[in-house]
Parts: sequence; C-alpha cells; structure tokens
Amino acid sequence: MSAVAEQTQVEPRLLADRINALEESSTLAMTKMARELAAQGHKVISLSVGEPDFKTPAFICEAAKKAIDDGFHGYSPVAGYPDLRKAIADKLKRDNNIDWKPENIVVSTGAKHSLANVIQVLINPGDEVVIFAPYWVSYSEMVKLAEGKSVIVEGAFDNDFKVTAAQLEAAITPRTKIVMYASPNNPTGSVYSEAELRAIGAVLEKHEDIYVLADEIYEYINFTEAGHFSMGSIPALKDRVITVNGVAKGFAMTGWRIGFIGAAKWIADGVEKLQGQVTSGTNSIAQKAATAAFNGPLDATREMTKAYARRRDLVIGLLKEIPGFKVNVPDGAFYAFPDVSYYFGKSDGTTLIKDSDDFCNWLLNNSFVSTVAGSGFGAPNCIRISTAAADEALAEAVQRIKDAMATLK
Ligand code: PMP
Ligand code: GLU
Repeated sequence: MSAVAEQTQVEPRLLADRINALEESSTLAMTKMARELAAQGHKVISLSVGEPDFKTPAFICEAAKKAIDDGFHGYSPVAGYPDLRKAIADKLKRDNNIDWKPENIVVSTGAKHSLANVIQVLINPGDEVVIFAPYWVSYSEMVKLAEGKSVIVEGAFDNDFKVTAAQLEAAITPRTKIVMYASPNNPTGSVYSEAELRAIGAVLEKHEDIYVLADEIYEYINFTEAGHFSMGSIPALKDRVITVNGVAKGFAMTGWRIGFIGAAKWIADGVEKLQGQVTSGTNSIAQKAATAAFNGPLDATREMTKAYARRRDLVIGLLKEIPGFKVNVPDGAFYAFPDVSYYFGKSDGTTLIKDSDDFCNWLLNNSFVSTVAGSGFGAPNCIRISTAAADEALAEAVQRIKDAMATLK
C-alpha cells in the first residue's frame, strides 16, 4: 500500500471521536463539488450555497476602509467594540422591540459561531434540544458536538413546513433545555407569523427551564406584509430567548463574518467566557463595517429583498411546471424547497435515483446544477435550490432540471 493510501486509511481513526461522529456540512460539501466541476471547465450553475450574490453596500465598505486607516489593528474586546454592541442594542430596539443593553450583546464570527457558542454554553450531555424541521444543516451537528440530543419536530408541508404549538408541547420532556428555530427559515423560506410565535411562546411560558434560540439571520428578507416578529419581544419570555442575527444575509456580508446574540446577561457572560478562550473578539475591521451597517440606512437591504422576491416568483413559477414536483411558496429568505420524491425509484437507464442525495448528485454530474439534498435539513423528500443568483442563471438552471427530469423513467 502506498504511503498516501495508508495515511488516508489510518488518519481518520486518529481523529477525536467527536469529529468522526460529525457529519460534513452538506451545503458546503455540494458547493465544493460544484467549484471543482467548474474548475474542470463545466458550465456549472451553483445554487447550493445560501449567499447573496450582491455586493456589500458601499457605505459599509467605506467604514471598513476608514477603520484600517484609523488604525483599528489590534485585538478588540472579546464581546465586541462598545460602539458595535450599542449599535446592535439600538437595532434590536428599533426593528425587533427587544430592549437589551450593550452588555447583553456578544459579537461573534458569524451567526453560525453565535449559535454554536450558545449551544456549548447551555447544553450538558444528554440535554435535549427541540429543533423545528426542516432546519438548517448545522443545528443538529452543533448539538451533537455539545453532546446534547436533538429532538426533531417536523413542520408539515401542508402547514407551510411550520411546527405548531401543539406539536411543540408534545415534544417537551423534563430534559428539554432549548427550543431552536429559524424564521424566515432556511431551507423552506417559511415565516412564522406573530400569532404562531405567540402560540408557541404561550407553551414555553409554562416551562420556566426551557430557553429559546431564535435564529433571525434572514430577518430582512421577508416578503410578508406583516413583516418580522421576534419571540424575544414577548415580555414573559425575554430572559429566556436568545436572539441570534448578523450581517451576512441582509447586508450581503457573508465573508465578513459578523454575528451576534442578544441574551440575558448570564448567558452573554458565558458566551464571552467561552469566546475568550477559543477565538477572542472577532475581526476588528469587520466589526467597524458592521457598526456602519446597523447604524445606517436600510435602502440597499430593501432593494435586495425586492430582487429576492422577484426571483422567488420566477423560480417557483418555473418549478411548478415540472411534472411531479410539489412546490411550496416561500415567504422569505432565498430558497426554493420542492418535494421531488416523485422521482425516487426512477432511473435514466444507468443511474437509479433512490433518495434526495442521489437526486442532487445526479443533477450536479449530469446537468451541472448544484443544489442541496433535503436529507441534511431533516426533510428527505425535498431538495434546496438557492434563488440568490441572477434571473437568467435561475431560469436556465430550472430549465436544465426540467430537461433532466424528462429523461427519468
Ligand atoms: N442561520 C441560518 C439559518 C443560516 O442559513 C446561516 C447561513 N448563513 C447562518 C445561521 C449563519 O450565518 P453566518 O454567515 O452569519 O454565520
Ligand atoms: N447558511 C448558508 C447555507 O445554508 C451558507 C453555508 C453554510 O454555512 O452552511 O447555504
């Protein structure tokens, strides 16, 4: 056996059990495969990663350039610069009706980091985390890393993929520590209404030891008339809701890596303590850019949201024309999440499509459209298609999918 082959067989066994038990992020894995195929010269349309295709607004970039010139080159405080924490506290008051002081805010390296921090800080081995499915791929793996137990509660397709208060109530046990959801949702784009969140909140009011991790990263990408509602604004729950948000989606700033929590002081302090031993304060220049974003106008954000709404209409309209696809209409975010299970068990004569993973791999390798299997999101009948791409690319991608489906028998 060659030395390289020997190494690839032995090394995984040497990794810690917690890493061997971890699933690879399917959003990032599919995106990596799409990049590799594109590098080989294929005309790939990459709709696997959920990331705005717009540029960060100029006024935010200017603030970052100024931060470099003004010499913000050193370590920041672990929880973030005071002016950024104040800007976030002001934003939570302005947009979300949540009244936290700067000391309740901790800034981290993306909302992903904020979520992982909170789970590490609150979960003991065996604690249960109720996750509303379909859910973002990393939630269950973050819980696994903290040795918690994910309790998956599925929102029905016919209920716009949303979990009801009664479903939540039935899932609660004495070990439940956190209830975790995203609205607007990744991967479904569903938006929980104020009434739905108040009903869920009413269940949680009865359980004083349960915390809520409210992922609001898609807050601004909301197409409903009523707009966004934050569970953290319910006074009876305020101290138990950890609101997570960031700049990635609303300000087209995925690469800047700024996320935050707004939470009770003891939780914020726990996150600061963890962060102080693991990452320290996040990137100083990105913090200054985020300060400008939260203090600045939302015109660019609103324009981008208009484009996402238009693309949603385009893609959903086209997907509905594909025989066998079951298509829900998302109210926010930038994903379509059709049920494609009609094609499971069909073949192009060479490849049998057994499930959503086979479906997405086959689509990528045959039609060069990258999507993500629903399996990683807790919805094995569906696939996720990002609609954050140019209209022409989206139309071409759906046409390729339609043509590919016609070859399956
Ligand atoms: N939550 C959800 C639901 C997401 O889709 C993402 C992906 N961007 C994140 C959190 C993480 O966001 P960030 O890029 O700020 O880490
Ligand atoms: N959140 C985005 C997605 O769902 C970015 C990739 C990731 O971090 O998972 O595609």
